[in-house]
Amino acid sequence: MAKPFPKHPHLEGGFAPIHMECDAPDLVVEGEVPRELNGVFYRNGPNAQFAPRGDYHLFAGDGMIHGFYIRDGKVSYKNRWVRTLKWRKEHDAGEALFGAFNPMDSDESVRGMETDGLANTNVVWHGGRLLALEEAHAPFELDPFTLESKGSWRYDGKLEGPMTAHPKIDYETGEMLMFGYNAKGLISEDIAFHVVDRDGNLTRSEWFKAPYASMVHDFMVTRDHVIFPIMPLTGSMERAMRGEPVYAWEPDKGVHIGIMPRNGSVEDLRWFKGDPSFVFHPMNAHTDGNMVTCDVCEFEEAPLFPAPDGTPGDPEKAVPRLTRWTFDMGSNTDDYKSERLDDLACEFPRLDERFTGLGYRHGYFACDLKPQFEVGAFNGIGHVDHVTGKMDVYEVGHACATNEPIFVPRTDDAAEGDGFLLANVYDAERKASHLVILDAQNVSAGPLAKAYLDHRVPFGFHGNWMPGQA
Ligand code: FE
Repeated sequence: MAKPFPKHPHLEGGFAPIHMECDAPDLVVEGEVPRELNGVFYRNGPNAQFAPRGDYHLFAGDGMIHGFYIRDGKVSYKNRWVRTLKWRKEHDAGEALFGAFNPMDSDESVRGMETDGLANTNVVWHGGRLLALEEAHAPFELDPFTLESKGSWRYDGKLEGPMTAHPKIDYETGEMLMFGYNAKGLISEDIAFHVVDRDGNLTRSEWFKAPYASMVHDFMVTRDHVIFPIMPLTGSMERAMRGEPVYAWEPDKGVHIGIMPRNGSVEDLRWFKGDPSFVFHPMNAHTDGNMVTCDVCEFEEAPLFPAPDGTPGDPEKAVPRLTRWTFDMGSNTDDYKSERLDDLACEFPRLDERFTGLGYRHGYFACDLKPQFEVGAFNGIGHVDHVTGKMDVYEVGHACATNEPIFVPRTDDAAEGDGFLLANVYDAERKASHLVILDAQNVSAGPLAKAYLDHRVPFGFHGNWMPGQA
């Protein structure tokens, strides 16, 4: 018999897991779903199957995929857990067996067992495969239509170690660039860099050592460079063995940003150093001559993790803001310029991904218009025009919260930014979620359409679009 869930901020309200899988054909729609939208919007997020063992962490819930299938103005929906080894073992046992981060929290029957992860962070369509991603393991393949689990995918055995949940797809070449940290063992400085070609073949892998072991959630690519931000949310197995936090905020280690030419190798990595700060997600990066520009959502201090002695972080410093880093590859220095672009609290940055790694004008994000920032629950969807600096925001409404918006171009050859933003909104009064579809060029005008579910999509992490086959 499944046990009740404990009180925990990330197991309650809009974060609480749902305990059902369903198929909902032809959702009730208010407004008009644009006829140009034909495809599937997939979203992933943590959705613990059972009450956790030991300390819970938002990053430790079992992955659940929510799919919105859109065609000819109609929207249908289905959701499925990703049936990882952990999910299957726990399903059979009827209770949680694995701890969150600390292996010492796991049941003896599974302690030390190699798993295929949680598959709870992102879901991408590339090389003819739908892959659920979580940064400590290999991708996990799903059927794009039924969402049935197929299993761990290691590119015909060529992918060694884990893979980031934030690969970058180069629209010009069709390649997917990716990396893995803790690439040789549980907590280590080792980072692997990989390239998968447009057909889904892993064609390149290289390894290097970061200045220290840390949580490396995301990275950046430009047409000419690959950028690895190493930020002081450090990892330590020694701490874990003492019962202390595996991951902790150690600002004294500073920020180290490695920049590698794409036509070079890890031997050519050049390291820049900066004051402590933390970034989960960049918006985009590009190279112009000697200058490399990176737009990121930067925190003063890493949110969600404590100091090494377990002291919680300062919530005032755990506010992400759009920040631009500029690196001069022609200089002899190891420093870089950092400037805040706006004071608005914003996270989950995206762009018109046809411009990944290129000069670009339009960015999108989830934002918080309240003075009090609440991690994971945002009340606005925003657009930034990098040419005018203007922000345009849609407030999702009373008692409503949202997270990452994704951009879908109107057509393959539409101009940059000509398209739609799709996001989930949770309505706490209705205790259910709806999909909103916005005109990406006029976000503050509000949704072109809303498609209503009868249940909640828990606040999650990331999603992507698969065009054309819904
Ligand atoms: Fe992420």
